[in-house]
Amino acid sequence: MNIAVYCGSSFGNNPEFANAAKALGKSLAEAKTGLVYGGGNVGLMGAIADAVLEAGGNVIGVIPKALEQREVAHSNLTQLIIVPDMHTRKAKMIELADAFIVLPGGIGTLEELFEVWTWAQLGYHQKSVGLLNIAGYYDQLLEFLDMAVKVGFQKPIHRDFLLVETNPTALLERIRQ
Ligand code: AMP
Repeated sequence: MNIAVYCGSSFGNNPEFANAAKALGKSLAEAKTGLVYGGGNVGLMGAIADAVLEAGGNVIGVIPKALEQREVAHSNLTQLIIVPDMHTRKAKMIELADAFIVLPGGIGTLEELFEVWTWAQLGYHQKSVGLLNIAGYYDQLLEFLDMAVKVGFQKPIHRDFLLVETNPTALLERIRQ
């Protein structure tokens, strides 16, 4: 099994974010679950890749040619796939993964969250999408999404596709179920 993890290319200013990325990486390796991610060696992206590798796990990175320098392509991965553009990266990550986990991050991470989630809503894939809400980072987004259900723009059934947990082990358990 492979899980794609979307997360910040920065660390954020709370050490809990990097701690969660490392804990998730260790749990993936211990569960013999491979990591698929954006291939960079910066921010939480680099932290989770290093944690999986240190614990003896497999990591596949998928990076667009143009971002090889900016996101500092990781040189020690099990496999680094260099693709022509962002669309190919995202399609490849979705193809390689059996489920998706989103950690804290900026608008790149949010864009990836909404893409995999809306694709599940449209039936383009039947894979689980999980959100790790670390240090309350996503509290306001989750409140907004509940309001979108309340005013009738979001179907509750699709809102419930998103599995939300604060702990990596609990989220992996729900994804496995
Ligand atoms: P960020 O959360 O902004 O730090 O970005 C995290 C990752 O999302 C980086 O590897 C970005 O390259 C990637 N990303 C994916 N889609 C996009 C997009 N449409 N715009 C910007 N970054 C993106």
